Amino acid sequence: MPQVLLFDIDGTLIKPGDPIHQQALLDAVRTVYQVEASLEGIPLGGMLDSQIVRLTLEKYDVPASDIRSGLTETMSIMGKRYGELLDGGERRSWLLPGVVELLSRLNGERVLSVLTGNASGVARAKLSAAGIDYYFPHGAYGDSADHRYELVAVAIERVTHTTGETFQETDVVLIGDTPRDIEAARESGAKVLAVATGRYSVDDLAEHDPDIVFEDLSETERVLHELNAMADSPRGTR
Ligand SMILES: [Mg+2]
Repeated sequence: MPQVLLFDIDGTLIKPGDPIHQQALLDAVRTVYQVEASLEGIPLGGMLDSQIVRLTLEKYDVPASDIRSGLTETMSIMGKRYGELLDGGERRSWLLPGVVELLSRLNGERVLSVLTGNASGVARAKLSAAGIDYYFPHGAYGDSADHRYELVAVAIERVTHTTGETFQETDVVLIGDTPRDIEAARESGAKVLAVATGRYSVDDLAEHDPDIVFEDLSETERVLHELNAMADSPRGTR
């Protein structure tokens, strides 16, 4: 059974901190909830866009039922708004070290997909602006679940639908840059390769006990070797 690799986007494939991503979220919140919000004090790393919207609106005392009823529309407007703000701009210069080389080596050898907190419209626009959308025909996005670990099942369902093959959680490796990616893997039964190209150092990430942690993805052969080792390791052991 081929390994399924689920890549996070921000801090893993592309540099984190895209200012128009945050702007698109705040613009969508203003449109749907008429709240002039700020993201101050909201933890962003590894969070789903839907969680960020919920936490932001709670700060402004918007009732939970109102938050819930507007969430789908907010995610959709956010994706469109991101595309407008990007305005044909590029994200190739935001690609992190080794990413393109690694993806080109893995392509056709493994099943590649994204598992990201980004709303789907934002994710697709970002991957396309970075020139790597070709590698990721499908994905699990921040508007498809309430918690990151739930996206693993969403991703497996989509991969199964596309390939016609059946996968278990243990066939899956999450590749991400935050403790929340590691937790999502543990809670779902997937394996996890952590990479310190986001806001967390190797030591920070190692504390959360990933299967392996890298400074970045530039040592292609080492990364491939570790992925092979993970594919061979039996269920439940590391
Ligand atoms: Mg990330």
